[in-house]
Amino acid sequence: MLTKELLDVIACTKCKGSLDYDKKRNILLCNKCRLKYKILRGDIPDMLLEDAGKF
Ligand SMILES: [Zn+2]
Repeated sequence: MLTKELLDVIACTKCKGSLDYDKKRNILLCNKCRLKYKILRGDIPDMLLEDAGKF
């Protein structure tokens, strides 16, 4: 689970825009780039573009 503080500062690696947190799937979504970022070990967002998937 990500903290609100982290969600407030985290941004999409590609567009630097804000991300949506999908609590159910525990992933971060950029609706602009249609990219999804994985969250490792529950609370460490993997913001590497090469690890991000499309949705
Ligand atoms: Zn983006």
